[in-house]
Amino acid sequence: MKEPKTVVCPYCGFGCRLLVDPKTMRVKPHRGEPNRGKLCPKGLHATEFVLSGDRLKRPLKREGSRIRPISWGQAIEEIAGKLLEIRELYGADAVAFIASSKVSNEENYLLQKIARLFGTNNIDNCARLCHEASVHALKMTVGAGAQTNPYEDLERFGVILIWGYNPAETHPVVMDYILKAKRNGAKVIVVDVRETRTMAFADYSLVIRPGTDIALANAMMNVIILEELYDEEFIKTRTFGFSEVRMAVRKYTPEYAEKVTGIPAETIREVARTFALAGSGAIMWGMGLTQHVSGVENVMAVIDLALLLGYIGEKGGLYPMRGQNNVQGAAYMGALSEFLPGYVPLTDERFRKRVAKIWGVEDLPTERGLYLTELWEAIESNDIKALYIVGENPAVSEADFIRVRNALRRLDLLVVQDIFMTRTARYAHYVLPASAFCEKEGSYMNSERRIQWSHKVCEPMGDSKPDWEILTMLGKALGLPGFNYSSVEEITAEYFRLFPLLEERSVDELNVGDGIFLPKKRLHTWEFATPDGKARFIAVEQVQPWERPDYEYPFILTTIRLISHYNTGEMTLRSPSLVRLMGEPRVLINRSDAERLGIHDGDWVEIETRRGKIRMRAKLGRIPSGVVAVPFHFKANKITSPALNKAGTPELKFSAARLRKLRSE
Ligand code: SF4
Repeated sequence: MKEPKTVVCPYCGFGCRLLVDPKTMRVKPHRGEPNRGKLCPKGLHATEFVLSGDRLKRPLKREGSRIRPISWGQAIEEIAGKLLEIRELYGADAVAFIASSKVSNEENYLLQKIARLFGTNNIDNCARLCHEASVHALKMTVGAGAQTNPYEDLERFGVILIWGYNPAETHPVVMDYILKAKRNGAKVIVVDVRETRTMAFADYSLVIRPGTDIALANAMMNVIILEELYDEEFIKTRTFGFSEVRMAVRKYTPEYAEKVTGIPAETIREVARTFALAGSGAIMWGMGLTQHVSGVENVMAVIDLALLLGYIGEKGGLYPMRGQNNVQGAAYMGALSEFLPGYVPLTDERFRKRVAKIWGVEDLPTERGLYLTELWEAIESNDIKALYIVGENPAVSEADFIRVRNALRRLDLLVVQDIFMTRTARYAHYVLPASAFCEKEGSYMNSERRIQWSHKVCEPMGDSKPDWEILTMLGKALGLPGFNYSSVEEITAEYFRLFPLLEERSVDELNVGDGIFLPKKRLHTWEFATPDGKARFIAVEQVQPWERPDYEYPFILTTIRLISHYNTGEMTLRSPSLVRLMGEPRVLINRSDAERLGIHDGDWVEIETRRGKIRMRAKLGRIPSGVVAVPFHFKANKITSPALNKAGTPELKFSAARLRKLRSE
């Protein structure tokens, strides 16, 4: 009898491990870390989409309006030939690559290797849409752009501050850790723009006006400084820049912050004291902080708050909770246009030469490539001629997606490597069928930087191939050095060699126990990852959103996630159990706003911004007056704001909008 195989969940970045029975494809939870015998509905039904009849089974080529099957040999030869021709005519920077937060470390590693050996840093992944603002803020303040502590630390902290993040729906299994912390006496504070499911477990629930997070964080610091509740010793010995922050937050009194945020001044005082007096604490955040034009500054503000109390390392942790199962790995493997693997800047000559040597070349390109969110303008201006996409669906996931779809139509060459004919694949000249997560071996890195091995359970469907095999064929056809891999473990061993902390370790270690933390389990315990070992406070001021509500567009539109759905819905919409669980997505509207507009629960409503209109049924519920929320998984990005912050993340959480009732239920 075949034993169940251990597989990493293909959905969120929490990184649960599943035990999959190869005969029945039924899923059970793994008992080890991090999920300890628990799974959410998505994990429990994770194999359903793999068996979908919609799976791509053969390479396809577009000829006029028709798309026809071709052989792997022909597909790879033609794609490589066209990429080389475009490089010859326009240079390597006329080509861009989009990696995937849903494929393995090895596959992301190979795609960025192809891009850089081809001659461009135009390689990016969807971390740009979510936590790149966190990466930039963390690098500038504490020197390393990732979560600082493992999940297990949550259970021993005195307070957990959850900001712009709804774990009860986005990472349901992490709630087990939060509830255990509560049982151990921790206080839980939740800040969000609407009443979330997570707030049901909170000691303090703060419903904040969208886009005013800095005012709240600065006001909490104002109270902590005024009442001398900060950790003076930590600030003196381990940080720089406290006096600038002290000056900057002076004007953010709780009374001032009340006017900006809508949260009563006395509540701000009480929450600031609770947070400071707990003695240890975690700050967990999500897209509610990062998807703003002030995304980088928002994250800096909460990092300042943690530094003020020494809540980093042993006494606390920073938890930018990752969305997709390998978004952390994609970024760590170098699938970012401004970083080499390990978030090392392109300008770090020593590391760059080390990578080049392992890859068998003299040097690598040093100019920053385009951000994923900058590609569409570059295509419009004819700077990008070819796009190679692995497992991403920008025709749905990008802000203002009509513009993105028009840009995709203009390309001389669009290649999409995926498991389904996604909305993006419909524009492609070539579509390459990839294997699903449980049809291949490989490693994945979860939000806490734990690398885990995922095993093959079943054979690839039809003529599909694991992404690493397709990329190996492409690298060879492009004539790039070092693309002779015959197993995925050879690629794992190569990326281990890049990182000094993994250099001495064996790939086999990923197969025993609960994985390996990169670079280590807990960061910043003795010194920060900055050149002098000290963290930087960076004072920030409240930043206005790009669009403001006005007479024409009086509502603030924000986007939310649903427990049963994931990303652009390509996987979850093909999982019958999840579709049954969730039903139809709806726009959440405040009851008094709905009454004023004559909208009842279930009515069809048109939501319009300066980018266009979408239609959805209404759900009346707990959201402040003047704010409406739509699930982002399906068509919301037709109308979201494309304004970018300093890290290139769009302001998906704030658009000016208007509502109109269409017809009654
Ligand atoms: Fe998968 Fe995340 Fe659910 Fe765990 S919490 S089962 S990783 S979707």
